[in-house]
Amino acid sequence: MKNILIIGSGVIGLSVAYELSKKKKKYKIYVLEKNKNIGKENTSKNSQVIHSGVYYKKNTLKNSLCIEGKKLIYDFCKKYKIRYNKTGKLFVACTKREEKYLELLKKNSIKNGVKDVKMVNEKKLRILEPEIIGKKALLSPSAGIFDVNAFTKKLFSINKKRGVIFKFDKKNIKLNYKNRKFLSNHFKNISFDFVINCAGIDAISVAKKNFPKKKFPNDRLIKGIYYKTNQKLKLRRIIYRAMVPGVIKERIDTTPLLNGGYIFGPSVEKLKKIDKKKLKYKFINGIKNYLPIIKDEKILYFKEGLRPKIIMNHKIKNEDFYIKKINNYPWINLFGIESPGLTSSLSIAKYVKGII
Ligand SMILES: Cc1cc2nc3c(=O)[nH]c(=O)nc-3n(C[C@H](O)[C@H](O)[C@H](O)COP(=O)(O)OP(=O)(O)OC[C@H]3O[C@@H](n4cnc5c(N)ncnc54)[C@H](O)[C@@H]3O)c2cc1C
Repeated sequence: MKNILIIGSGVIGLSVAYELSKKKKKYKIYVLEKNKNIGKENTSKNSQVIHSGVYYKKNTLKNSLCIEGKKLIYDFCKKYKIRYNKTGKLFVACTKREEKYLELLKKNSIKNGVKDVKMVNEKKLRILEPEIIGKKALLSPSAGIFDVNAFTKKLFSINKKRGVIFKFDKKNIKLNYKNRKFLSNHFKNISFDFVINCAGIDAISVAKKNFPKKKFPNDRLIKGIYYKTNQKLKLRRIIYRAMVPGVIKERIDTTPLLNGGYIFGPSVEKLKKIDKKKLKYKFINGIKNYLPIIKDEKILYFKEGLRPKIIMNHKIKNEDFYIKKINNYPWINLFGIESPGLTSSLSIAKYVKGII
């Protein structure tokens, strides 16, 4: 029996515990969480979108794990009666240039194995979503939204039933390493055969504290802010502006919520002081391009999350998930688990199991 320590009980730590605890006789799982409860960080600060995998670059973990994860999430939701809605997503072209982007998106999607996408002309778009203005759109029917809170609670309760031990309110900083095992002050008399670092935006600092001599990527945290509305709209699908595949630039998306209402964003903000007036103006402009009936006064500040983006040595941006074992140590780091991390959570867990 191997003792495994997971740092962090966000959606990724919970999913890894869920995957490994299927093998009760092989692994005994322990989870350390710095907060008093599960899923209080990025896991609860996102769009709750199940992404379909239209725009990630081929041969990236984001692409393969998103496509596999999407199916696993829908199956999990069906099995455990977690609320979801396969709304579909429309990439809307508002300009001639964006119409070209739609062709690129379609090609990329099909190349990636997401073959159910359909081009929609202006007339058809008006029938599908009468409130949306656009010259053309690409429909991705397999995208949706789900109840992330219920999902993480279910993962937690299954983990508990399978004997996973959780310790909350324990900030794990430094473990000791002796005879190829890790020791933690929070678990007396237990030595860990493997550590899995799922600490989200803190994952790099946790790794650096435990391995001060090793080289790791650096953080490049980017804030994402949401606005919301309760204005009554007929809109049923998730709306994105058309984009070039693999080039994730700021767009102001509109996503329906399971309980009614819509969220807008997330925006892309560097970590400097944010001018709220300018920010609202940016949102209003961004949304009105394709949803002109929205009323300015009905767009209200909602919430924000931090994208755990990373930069490699020599300042090269890394746009993919970074899931790697440290050479010669039984320790796996999960860095840069930004979107589509939620969609990919169950497939990331399988990938981690593969590494162990
Ligand atoms: C703005 C935004 C929008 C997004 N939208 C989507 C979307 O629509 N669809 C999608 O698929 N993905 C989306 N994502 C990505 C998704 O939210 C993340 O990939 C996912 O939540 C990552 O989960 P996590 O468990 O790695 O991180 P977290 O949820 O942040 O969990 C990390 C956990 O580790 C704990 N921790 C940290 N340090 C320590 C320590 N030292 N000791 C113990 N515990 C520690 C934290 O308290 C936390 O509970 C979005 C992300 C952002 C920022």
